[in-house]
Amino acid sequence: MNSDRTNARSNEILDRPIIAIIGGGFSGSMLAVELLRRAAGRIYVQLIERGPIPGRGVAYGTQFEGHLLNVRARNMSAYADIPDHLLRWAQRHYSSSVKPDDFLPRAIYGQYISSQLREASSSNPAAFRCIRDEAISVAPAGNRTEIRLAKGQAIFANRVVLALGNFPPADLQIPGKATASSRYVANPWSVNAFANATNDESVLLIGSGLTSVDVTVELRARGFEGTIHILSRRGLLPQRHAAVPFPPFPTENTPRTIRGLLRLIRLQVKRAEERGSNWRAVVDSLRTVTQQIWRSLPLAEQRRFLRHLRSYWDVHRHRIAERIADQLTLQIRSGQIETHAGRIIEYQERSTGVEVTYRERKSGQAKSLLVDRVVNCTGPEGDYRRVSSPLLLDMMERGLARPDALSLGLDVADDGALVDTQGSPSSLLYALGPLRKGKLWESIAVPELRVQVAALGSLLVSALPVESSPSVSTSNEVLASIRS
Ligand SMILES: Cc1cc2nc3c(=O)[nH]c(=O)nc-3n(C[C@H](O)[C@H](O)[C@H](O)COP(=O)(O)OP(=O)(O)OC[C@H]3O[C@@H](n4cnc5c(N)ncnc54)[C@H](O)[C@@H]3O)c2cc1C
Repeated sequence: MNSDRTNARSNEILDRPIIAIIGGGFSGSMLAVELLRRAAGRIYVQLIERGPIPGRGVAYGTQFEGHLLNVRARNMSAYADIPDHLLRWAQRHYSSSVKPDDFLPRAIYGQYISSQLREASSSNPAAFRCIRDEAISVAPAGNRTEIRLAKGQAIFANRVVLALGNFPPADLQIPGKATASSRYVANPWSVNAFANATNDESVLLIGSGLTSVDVTVELRARGFEGTIHILSRRGLLPQRHAAVPFPPFPTENTPRTIRGLLRLIRLQVKRAEERGSNWRAVVDSLRTVTQQIWRSLPLAEQRRFLRHLRSYWDVHRHRIAERIADQLTLQIRSGQIETHAGRIIEYQERSTGVEVTYRERKSGQAKSLLVDRVVNCTGPEGDYRRVSSPLLLDMMERGLARPDALSLGLDVADDGALVDTQGSPSSLLYALGPLRKGKLWESIAVPELRVQVAALGSLLVSALPVESSPSVSTSNEVLASIRS
């Protein structure tokens, strides 16, 4: 019955192409905004989001004020061509004292994105619908696509964009570990992750990236006093931010090997130091050319990077606000946080806690930690054969999508079109955001995603039937409407 009602609604608006966006985090929500601002009179946008509030996604769904953005306010505008948009919004809606260099709470950023979607959709109510449900399958239906939803509905669309974002970490495969246990937190982003934790227990965080920093900050803010152990293969923690100006990274004759690139980066760091600057200036200057460099590398070199340099890249590229870095440094000095480097070899649940044994990186010796709780902080899972997404499994089974060669995301063409199992780019299905990581590597944070959103929005609009309509906005009108 639901399905009939939805079909009837789709039929009412079949005179306009329907663009369905699956996933309403930053990427999906801002694509909806982009489409509505540019072509509200000519399309119908359906945003399908399984979570409670569109605009938040995993990153900005947190309600904890201590979870800060890891990018300064000056670089987090939702619009690539209006760099001060977030700043002005935050000064008006959050605090008049917000400065460009501040790291805002992620919860505030979630409110910002939700407000952009709300404004764009309320100005164009006849062109937009948000469906609160999970998409579980996508299948061709003539020259359209049928999307099935978990609650039983089916909707049809002329173009479908997957903006599925970040998936929880894959379950840890460690000898001795049971699949489920009250002492093991499989998904640190879930709202109930620490519901039964007490403040005096000891905890082991597996993985030492931004997720483990988030968990540490949250646990301490809740009054958690026990020791926090952080264990990862190399034992590296994210570096701190520090404002440094950066000159452009040289892009002529960039080496196409990891060894050559590393040599060039070291040389740039040396030059930066000679000028009184440091490595941060070089890493930041790389940001605008990372996608270009990544795409120029042969697959074998990309693999080499992932095997040998990825963890070093991650801690230098994905840095943390000074305030949070200070907290961590103090806790490490006082022994409240202990970091360990090694590979886990065994996991045993005992009556007194969980005993995790690892082979220490430096000494090669087996060492054990006995803790009350273990948290999987290994970060978003990019190998889609391992995530629990009925939609992705269904699409891969139907041959509509396939993982990229590095299993970092999905195989996509240059414009984001999904590449099917036969190697052909789709003319109906697109991917946005972290799903494009294999193609671009740098495809996870807002400064890159907002550019991607604008490009895909413009591609989808340019493919619409040409028709003079008073409500089709020009680029300048779009900008003016957002600025006001
Ligand atoms: C904890 C964390 C903190 C981060 N902090 C920052 C930061 O400070 N600055 C920065 O630039 N980047 C940050 N990032 C990077 C982040 O990837 C991007 O900023 C951005 O949030 C990605 O948005 P997205 O919409 O692509 O993905 P997501 O935010 O993951 O959104 C995907 C959405 O799709 C929905 N969904 C998935 N499958 C389905 C389905 N089948 N049906 C319906 N809905 C579905 C999910 O419910 C989710 O809402 C952070 C990432 C994480 C994980």
